Amino acid sequence: IFAAVEMAPRDPILGLNEAFNADTRAGKVNLGVGVYYDDNGKIPLLAAVKAAEKTHMDAQPPRGYQAIEGLGLYNKAVQDLVFGATSELVASGRVVTAEALGGTGALKIGADLLKRLDANASVYISDPSWENHRALFESAGFKVENYAYYDVATRGVNFVGMKAALLSMPAGSIVVLHACCHNPTGADMSDAQWAEVVDACRERHLVPFLDMAYQGFADGIEEDAIAVRLFSASGLQFFVSSSFSKSFSMYGERVGALSIVTESREEAARVLSQLKRVIRTNYSNPPIHGGAVVAAVLASPELRQQWEDELAGMRDRIRAMRTSLVAKLAERGVAQDFSFVAAQRGMFSYTGLTAAQVEVLKDEYGIYAVSTGRICLAALNTKNIDYVADAIAKVL
Ligand code: PMP
Repeated sequence: IFAAVEMAPRDPILGLNEAFNADTRAGKVNLGVGVYYDDNGKIPLLAAVKAAEKTHMDAQPPRGYQAIEGLGLYNKAVQDLVFGATSELVASGRVVTAEALGGTGALKIGADLLKRLDANASVYISDPSWENHRALFESAGFKVENYAYYDVATRGVNFVGMKAALLSMPAGSIVVLHACCHNPTGADMSDAQWAEVVDACRERHLVPFLDMAYQGFADGIEEDAIAVRLFSASGLQFFVSSSFSKSFSMYGERVGALSIVTESREEAARVLSQLKRVIRTNYSNPPIHGGAVVAAVLASPELRQQWEDELAGMRDRIRAMRTSLVAKLAERGVAQDFSFVAAQRGMFSYTGLTAAQVEVLKDEYGIYAVSTGRICLAALNTKNIDYVADAIAKVL
């Protein structure tokens, strides 16, 4: 049965990890994958998570099955973070939220549900986008196309192009939008541009699917939810996938959620019933541990404050690495203006490094980046940044 099976290509991002792990050079640096490392190059275990986990494990909870849609307390906590604690939509019972296996799992169950609702819709993702967006929606059976997004010349958003693309999409098209901290470019829209995106979605009867994998990594938990706030106020129906992988540094626990804004409480009940069917046939119900820990942190005023402080610490450290890299490249006489790196948001920057330059960084310096020139600023620290700046300056 396997004789004709071909070798699949490596995942473009996770494949880099495999190559990095196999590299035996001491000074190697992995700027490829989207993971936050602390200044010692370690993935942090947040103190708030540790405390909640200890209480949870000391209680030795039984390991029964969860509800198909996950833990109620967790889903409520997600709604408060994503839609705001005083959300009218949530209070009126119009928001369906189901715990999911990370942001990826949320996108997948959202895609599968959408396929059941409108099999012929096209899905539009930004050009460029997180690599898995295309693959996820294609594997759910959709045709996936790009909308204009990144402007190489300004290193910002090509908003004119994006808006024109939105306004020319067929009614019913699904449009995947990065709610904040655009991956891979680090280029986000202004609040005013978001308001125009909302209007375009209304005008063209589009199905907005906000992907919010980095809430809290740009300006703050509340500030980074501006897109969700604007869509919430619009009266439109929309999807939001969210994830605690980065904000809780709980990558491997796979804690995310899918939220769907419907028209009424009664409609929400019908939508949830269909979403549960999708979940049941994918993985039946989510695991217990991650969601319970996140819910415990968010339910305790002290732990929540501690988490917010730790999240702010991660955000500030990435910002410091951005400005430091810009300064260090200038110090090394790099003529090109890299100030855009400091202006971009979230974990990533599209540096403009070519695939050939990325290859040299890997071969000669053991520095791994995505071939598109995307680097993860959260993998820089005070110990490796000079080495990285030296190498980039030489490669340029
Ligand atoms: N969406 C985007 C834009 C992402 O960058 C990521 C993580 N790389 C995800 C979704 C998925 O997050 P998770 O690891 O929680 O599945």
